[in-house]
Amino acid sequence: LNRRLAEFGTTIFAEMSALALSTGSINLGQGFPDTDGPEEIREAAVRALRDGRGNQYPPGPGVPELRAAIAGHQQRYYGLGYDPDSEVLVTAGATEAVAAALLALLEPGDEVIALEPYYDSYAAGIALAGGVRVPVTLRPADGSYHLDLDELRAAVTPRTRLILLNTPHNPTGTVLTREELAAIAELACERDLLVVTDEVYEHLVFDGEHIPVACFPGMRERTVSISSAGKTFSFTGWKVGWVTGAPELVTAVRSAKQYLTYVSAGPFQHAVAEALRLPDSYFTALREDLRGKRDLLVDGLTEAGFAVYRPAGTYFVTTDIRPLGFDDGFAFCRALPERCGVVAVPTAVFYDHREQGAPFVRFAFCKRRSVLSEASARLKALG
Ligand code: PMP
Ligand code: GLN
Repeated sequence: LNRRLAEFGTTIFAEMSALALSTGSINLGQGFPDTDGPEEIREAAVRALRDGRGNQYPPGPGVPELRAAIAGHQQRYYGLGYDPDSEVLVTAGATEAVAAALLALLEPGDEVIALEPYYDSYAAGIALAGGVRVPVTLRPADGSYHLDLDELRAAVTPRTRLILLNTPHNPTGTVLTREELAAIAELACERDLLVVTDEVYEHLVFDGEHIPVACFPGMRERTVSISSAGKTFSFTGWKVGWVTGAPELVTAVRSAKQYLTYVSAGPFQHAVAEALRLPDSYFTALREDLRGKRDLLVDGLTEAGFAVYRPAGTYFVTTDIRPLGFDDGFAFCRALPERCGVVAVPTAVFYDHREQGAPFVRFAFCKRRSVLSEASARLKALG
């Protein structure tokens, strides 16, 4: 393994999902739903396969129907107008979109500000691109996480090229507010920074609202927005993601993408085009279902003795294990399957400042209610 990647071993998700399988535990570690997305969308994928739509290389930027549907979705929910031909790119999931954006936009040595804790592929993507990560830590207080805007401003240097945002935020469940986003936008304009924003949980907001940072004045031309069908339609295995942004930025990301995967998932692209045109009631039902599951797991974890950070969005909940008498999330998560048959993820893996994340553990609640209840019962037996 070369020096750029040496610090990144096996992802925590692979390690913890393997542990869940080998111990027969309930897997609340890796974030994937245990029920698949809509039947009609699965049927749409089967139809595309049968009709021979997408079985051979689709067009590099993505199939036209999907690009039109992505543009339509940005317009419908956020009033953002994008040209499907020059301002939309289909990727192999949001993961490839993030990596391709970093590879396309960074020069070696450029600094990238990211809100810590952050999704694990960001650090690896920045490293692959030869960039330098500059974490700005979200601070836990009063049951939620807070962004210190002064700290963010102070993190900008002459070498800063871009801010990598994620809202709703994995793993903390934080949804950046209009005021916070306005301040970030102002900073980006003032210091002439690009923003790459990962909004894969855009439809999973329970408190507050999701506002794309691209909506703020001066931001459309400096923002690369990223989302994915994995979370919104519960098809994490399909790996259909996308990028929207100004033509020069999307062209740049496409340049990197075409040498990473060139194209992907032809038939699934056709199915996701249909998914993005589902009525509002689909998106509302998804959110309300997950809101109920959030409440169920938050209550279960609270009764089990964890201190819980109630997430405003995403399908993850972060807990503090200190009230249970533990302080090392890694040791806790490695022992948990044997002790009570539940798998979770130590939040420290999402930190550069590992000590900041030490006593925190993340649980996923995108699971059937019966599974969440059983997991809660098992965790209660811990205490
Ligand atoms: N970004 C965030 C914040 C995520 O939590 C995930 C994982 N589910 C991804 C990106 C990856 O998305 P995809 O599976 O579409 O590559
Ligand atoms: N995004 C999901 C999570 O945070 C899983 C992603 C993965 O397995 N790489 O759990």
